[in-house]
Amino acid sequence: MSSPHSPANVQGSDNGAATPRPQPSNFLRQIIEHDLAQGKFAQARWGGSPGDAAHHAAGPLDPARIRTRFPPEPNGYLHIGHAKSICLNFGLARDYGGVCHLRFDDTNPEKEDQEYVDGIIDAVRWLGFDWHAFGTEHLYYASSYFDFMYRAAEYLIEQGLAYVDEQTPEEMRARRGDFATPGVDSPYRTRSVAENLARFRQMKAGELPDGAAVLRAKIDMASPNINLRDPVLYRIKHAAHHATGTRWCIYPMYTFAHPIEDALERITHSICTLEFEDQRPFYDWLLDHLVAGGLIATPQPRQYEFARLNLTYVVTSKRKLKHLVDAGIVQGWDDPRMPTIVGLRRRGYTPEAIQLFCERIGVTKDYSWIEYSALEGALRDELEHKAPRAMAVLEPLKLVLTNWDDLFGAGHLEPCELPALPHAPQDQPTPPPRRFTLGKEVWIERDDFAEVPPKGYKRLFPGNRVRLKGGFVIECTGCVKDASGQVTEVHASVLPDTKSGTPGADSVKVKAAITWVGAADGISAEVRLYDRLFTDAQPDAGGKDFLQLLNPQSLRVVQAIVEPSLATTRPDDKFQFERHGYFVADRVEHTPQRPVFNLAVGLKDSWGK
Ligand code: ATP
Ligand code: MG
Repeated sequence: MSSPHSPANVQGSDNGAATPRPQPSNFLRQIIEHDLAQGKFAQARWGGSPGDAAHHAAGPLDPARIRTRFPPEPNGYLHIGHAKSICLNFGLARDYGGVCHLRFDDTNPEKEDQEYVDGIIDAVRWLGFDWHAFGTEHLYYASSYFDFMYRAAEYLIEQGLAYVDEQTPEEMRARRGDFATPGVDSPYRTRSVAENLARFRQMKAGELPDGAAVLRAKIDMASPNINLRDPVLYRIKHAAHHATGTRWCIYPMYTFAHPIEDALERITHSICTLEFEDQRPFYDWLLDHLVAGGLIATPQPRQYEFARLNLTYVVTSKRKLKHLVDAGIVQGWDDPRMPTIVGLRRRGYTPEAIQLFCERIGVTKDYSWIEYSALEGALRDELEHKAPRAMAVLEPLKLVLTNWDDLFGAGHLEPCELPALPHAPQDQPTPPPRRFTLGKEVWIERDDFAEVPPKGYKRLFPGNRVRLKGGFVIECTGCVKDASGQVTEVHASVLPDTKSGTPGADSVKVKAAITWVGAADGISAEVRLYDRLFTDAQPDAGGKDFLQLLNPQSLRVVQAIVEPSLATTRPDDKFQFERHGYFVADRVEHTPQRPVFNLAVGLKDSWGK
């Protein structure tokens, strides 16, 4: 797993995918390297677009050394699980001089929508991948293969390999058997080829209502693999399709459509999640027969399975995520609490952080749960040397420096500065420092003052000294309270000649430096503090109802004061608010007049604590 791998040269590839980084090997890389070493695809031809055997045979040798695909169904927005598949498929194509197709698996007439098609295109592109390669755009729609699929179905019928079954769904289910019991043949299984063809054409012509008949493969009702017990290939559905309109009233099943889509596109490695492992024998059965009939090009695609991503504290199912949106539990697909790509983006995630996460979790065949903290860790590592520091006071309490006017004169504002990226690596250009001013009145965090300090407390309490970060050392002298006993103001005096960066500044030793924002130049901002959406680590596992496990505190909004360097912030800009975490200017609602920052991730891993 951890042996370093030097990617094959990307010669000849103009695949514009994200910056390559040396990738650890995995079982899929080993399979591809083996196939390439054997010259398995060396004679493969590419007709310039998807097509049947004759179409490809007429084309030149395929310039792509391998072909992979990412085949989403456009029935929702992509989530972090899809990101794993995207990074995997596009990453393999990039590293081995191949191409990854973006294919919309739009064979189901219902639930599919142009909004989702557009959203998926945006998400893949934003993640840093591209489906333009070798002078063509490899963006495909499974629905454009309906004609070929129909032809393949008639071919199977002609070969005695498929039949029209008119049992009721209940009868079909009852005769399917189970793991312990072999299935029983349908009474329609022995129909003649001519009768099957005629009936299938009636299905196609719209002469039968929904559910009246299906086309099934004729394989083996006693197979130990239930997927081979005469799987359904076509069903009747009188429904308009977003791309083909009402041209079709029969639609192919996923298990029939998918291998054909791969074959027409000359996919070399069809990579899917482990749930489809039991489908592989049918995948091969179908393509073997289509090869034998000369319908599809060789070598035919092969299916390989890897473990899907399961991430704690989130649900990764488009259907369940759609429910959260439709029920108004979140504010939309791009709500920063959503594990969707658009949600993560709005939360402050970068494509690099998501790619880093996908690299770190790797690709295996082992079923496991990945801790949410691994995703957060990738973002933290990504932003550490990129996100400028800033001071923000999230729960402001006023601090008055009572000797300020005597020391500096009334209204004096002392210019201060701090580095934007204090620990950036030496090879990185140093951005200019942040500048702000200190005056008589300052905002500090409410919990940086304690009238009666708890044991070990090092911040402000009467008689104690702290440094105002980047400013002076101060000594607390007391506080003012309102009628209810709530502290409304803290008082302190400035120790002269202790300003950070001036000679002798360290002559007075303190145990703590606190963050602050000057009352004169601080900017008020809305800060949205996000937490996990669910209280349970596996909210939809084992039959649990994820809707009963929502975290009521997943969003807390505070009115904060932030330092003046944030006045020029643009949407999507990211910062480290010192001591608090990484924040992003909300890409939808942030404006200079009304700044809005989202918590992207805290400074330390606090999950499960
Ligand atoms: P959902 O249930 O969320 O709709 P899906 O698998 O049905 O998921 P598709 O649009 O069919 O969604 O998925 C496109 C590709 O993304 C598939 O190849 C699938 O294997 C992959 N994929 C989906 N979820 C995950 C996941 N959690 N981990 C890894 N790959 C995934
Ligand atoms: Mg699906």
